[in-house]
Amino acid sequence: MPVATVRLYAELNDLLPQELRYSPFPHTFEGSSSVAECLSRCGVSSSLVDLVLLNGESVGFDAMMREGDRLSVYPVFESFDIRREQRLRPNPLRVARFVLDVHLGKLALHLRMLGFDALYRNDFSDDELVGAAAIEGRVLLSRDRRLLARPEIMRGYVVREKDPRLQLVEVGHRFDLGSSISPFTRCFRCNIVLTAVPKEDVLEFLPPKVRQSFDEFRRCPGCGRIYWKGSHYQRMVELIDDFLRCVKIVRVAAGEG
Ligand SMILES: [Zn+2]
Repeated sequence: MPVATVRLYAELNDLLPQELRYSPFPHTFEGSSSVAECLSRCGVSSSLVDLVLLNGESVGFDAMMREGDRLSVYPVFESFDIRREQRLRPNPLRVARFVLDVHLGKLALHLRMLGFDALYRNDFSDDELVGAAAIEGRVLLSRDRRLLARPEIMRGYVVREKDPRLQLVEVGHRFDLGSSISPFTRCFRCNIVLTAVPKEDVLEFLPPKVRQSFDEFRRCPGCGRIYWKGSHYQRMVELIDDFLRCVKIVRVAAGEG
């Protein structure tokens, strides 16, 4: 039977048995095998793969493998620019939009605070999550590998960290979010982009102290909630500064400059 050599990169190794991780391993197949079939037999969902090199050439999932081939498999590269290679995704999501699994509520709020489109409800079913990812082209964030292995999902990412602040740094690094933040532009409650409103339009809804102390307001066109730079604002600014600093440190540590 023909034998090819397969090597998985980065977090794709998590999907392999311990003894095969981070080194090339032989893959035996009967007759002929496509790249997709090979990945499937190795337990790797194509939704997690962005680049496949067959003997050093980038190929699609339908490329056929032969005896002695070398297959290198890379995960979804949101944080790198694969200019010279063929991406397997038709439309790289430069400004990523997310849908988050039900256990990632705080991360969803943090992403919204930074201005990112982060669809979340604490009662989404798996089918609704998969539907939002597939139909709206969103990246599904989850800690559940089985959910991310569903074939309908084009882009998924397994969140490893448990603490929401660290999750934010992890996702921020993975999807290169540091340069495209737009803080305090999205409603925490309904994920809709806020609109600036003149003070006189919202005066009647403001507590007296706020009326005296603040002049800039934004309103959510969805739920009508009004936002101003109140007592939580400074804490959130600190959280954002923290985020930007950590993302930079992670980049340098990863050798990305
Ligand atoms: Zn709202």
